[in-house]
Amino acid sequence: MDIMNIPEMFGENVFNDVVMRSTLPKEVYKSLRKTIDAGEPIDMSIADTVANAMKDWAVSKGATHYTHWFQPLTNLTAEKHDSFIEPCGGDGVIMQLTGKSLIVGEPDASSFPSGGSRATCAARGYTAWDPTSPAFVKEGTLYIPTVFVSYTGETLDKKAPLLKSMTALDRATKRILKLFGIECRKVSTTVGPEQEYFLVDKDVYEQREDLILTGRTLFGAPAPRGQELEDHYFGVLKPRISEFMRDLDKTLWSYGILAKTKHNEVAPAQHELAPVFTTTNIAVDNNQLTMEIMKKVAQRHGMVCLLHEKPFEGINGSGKHNNWSLSTDTGLNLLDPGEHPEGNGLFMLVLACVIAAVDKYQGILRASVASAGNDHRLGANEAPPAIISVYLGDQLGALVDSIVLGKDYVPTAPVKGSIGVPESPIFPIDSTDRNRTSPFAFTGNKFEFRMLGSSASVADPNVVLNTIVAEEFCVAAEKLERSENFRKDCKAYTEKLLKVHYRVIFNYNGYGPEWEPEAERRGLLNNKNTADAVPEFFKQENIDVFVDQGVYTQSEAIARAKIQLENYVKTIRIEALTMLDMAKKQIYPAVSAYVGELCANLAAKKSVVADLPCAEEEALIKTLASCNENMMAAVRKLEADLSDIPEGEREASQRMAHVVVPDMENIRGFADQAEKLCSADYWPFPTYSDLLFSIK
Ligand code: ADP
Ligand code: MG
Repeated sequence: MDIMNIPEMFGENVFNDVVMRSTLPKEVYKSLRKTIDAGEPIDMSIADTVANAMKDWAVSKGATHYTHWFQPLTNLTAEKHDSFIEPCGGDGVIMQLTGKSLIVGEPDASSFPSGGSRATCAARGYTAWDPTSPAFVKEGTLYIPTVFVSYTGETLDKKAPLLKSMTALDRATKRILKLFGIECRKVSTTVGPEQEYFLVDKDVYEQREDLILTGRTLFGAPAPRGQELEDHYFGVLKPRISEFMRDLDKTLWSYGILAKTKHNEVAPAQHELAPVFTTTNIAVDNNQLTMEIMKKVAQRHGMVCLLHEKPFEGINGSGKHNNWSLSTDTGLNLLDPGEHPEGNGLFMLVLACVIAAVDKYQGILRASVASAGNDHRLGANEAPPAIISVYLGDQLGALVDSIVLGKDYVPTAPVKGSIGVPESPIFPIDSTDRNRTSPFAFTGNKFEFRMLGSSASVADPNVVLNTIVAEEFCVAAEKLERSENFRKDCKAYTEKLLKVHYRVIFNYNGYGPEWEPEAERRGLLNNKNTADAVPEFFKQENIDVFVDQGVYTQSEAIARAKIQLENYVKTIRIEALTMLDMAKKQIYPAVSAYVGELCANLAAKKSVVADLPCAEEEALIKTLASCNENMMAAVRKLEADLSDIPEGEREASQRMAHVVVPDMENIRGFADQAEKLCSADYWPFPTYSDLLFSIK
């Protein structure tokens, strides 16, 4: 096995601090750092010098091109490569990157989703360098992270609003800190996204039209073995998987991505990678890169990486836990309760504001993770339910109960654990146990938002989270900045918030049957699919919070929600058309041929022995034939419904969610029943067993 010198190769493809320090003149370096660390506007006069240093470094790494790397509203990244060459008189060229080319680019924006915020003929869009996320060299190109805006200044990407939401939260948090006499230069949110994924063999994958076109299986009877043995979670890595993970880590480290934890997940063929947390905008970029690299590395190992939220029915789907906290540049984590949260006024106020924000804006928090893929997870007893609630754990739960319900609170002393064997060490025990079923769980010094889908951009939920918490901080600051008796008023304000928003706290099992009716009694939203969830973004009180915090304008907020619905409609349509194709061209002919063979055999047998027992064969023929007939009837219904989708994304998405999706489930039901009975020789594509258990 090759030995890696990780500290040496870590970040070797990144124009990081070490490279900047060694390639930039001192003054330029200092000026750039001020922009990165303290959010000061970039000094344009240094652009040429930085660009040149970046280019020289990139060329030394084998780069011939540069690209403004951006994140349009597609969950993917976009790039257009320009070479560094510049004619220099005579027949020669030089390699050049000017400050202007570093700072601004102009890709044609007309073919990216804009949600009607721009006429198609208005094509101008600009990419602007984001110096807070480092540039890197990949496959011969220098990648410059950028934000993407239109000619008229509307944001057309996921990064600009994310950065704006981080600025809003920075501003608002400093107001809160000031009340407590705490000064700092910058407050940043940090995120550690745990990424789940599936790996399937490439040869098997390529025989499934549904996987190729939609990323998930639209058909498939359950394999005889699923995840019931609970033996895959944390199980020993198979050699091919282990080699893949090693290659993946190595590649990610070379891009400066802090890949930390890797393990098998609950479902067969499912795995997870968790990085060490970092500032949110870098976490977003790193996660985009991680998803892309996972797919590429899998290809190198003869496998395909599936990032879809629900590639297989009947076993767990994939999510992305968004571990979120906020801290100052002086190292104070505002979500760290310390040993005595009951006496930590700042922490209690922050906690109360987060709880209030999550309760008030539960609709848009839920909507921020809504997609066709994620609809299969939320509410399917494997991911958190579609209802937003907050889990606080034993210690904080008891503390909040004491405030709201007047119960006694006995501060818990830190507990030491032991396994009861004298030789084994004594270790400190966390103050809270885990709760896997909560969508928004406090986990010691951070909140873990667990609803995000595996293929989604980390940006979306964080834009909402940062914005709504900033809003609540501003409301609190507004109130408390005028207070004459701060300590008393702050305590009273915190208690009031906790009382008003107590309904969103739920410290029990979110999968239990009692929770849905209980949540309904509490007046919590339960939007089970994208079509029902996204319209929360159209409500004026929800738009206002984005406008107030300077994150979206009214029209940007609306445009984004429209794109999300449009995307949902398009995704379901592609899935439906793929399903029709497979049902008509693969399943129907296969079942029909098998029934034909059974009939021919039966006729032949009967012609020799007239009273040959053949009840089973006859029954099989009848069942299969009626499955096929019923499936085709369901196909006809889906075709009719698809040809009659109303205009307008709201109406269309409603029709998709409530008519087309049930039609598709109906087709699948008959097809999967046929699969269970059909001869393996006739079944037209690999089964769940082939897909989930083929990797050795
Ligand atoms: P789990 O057991 O759910 O995997 P871990 O404690 O291992 O939880 O952490 C999961 C993720 O949370 C990691 O990516 C980790 O870096 C991240 N994380 C830890 N602390 C913070 C924090 N303060 N802010 C954001 N993310 C954090
Ligand atoms: Mg987790």
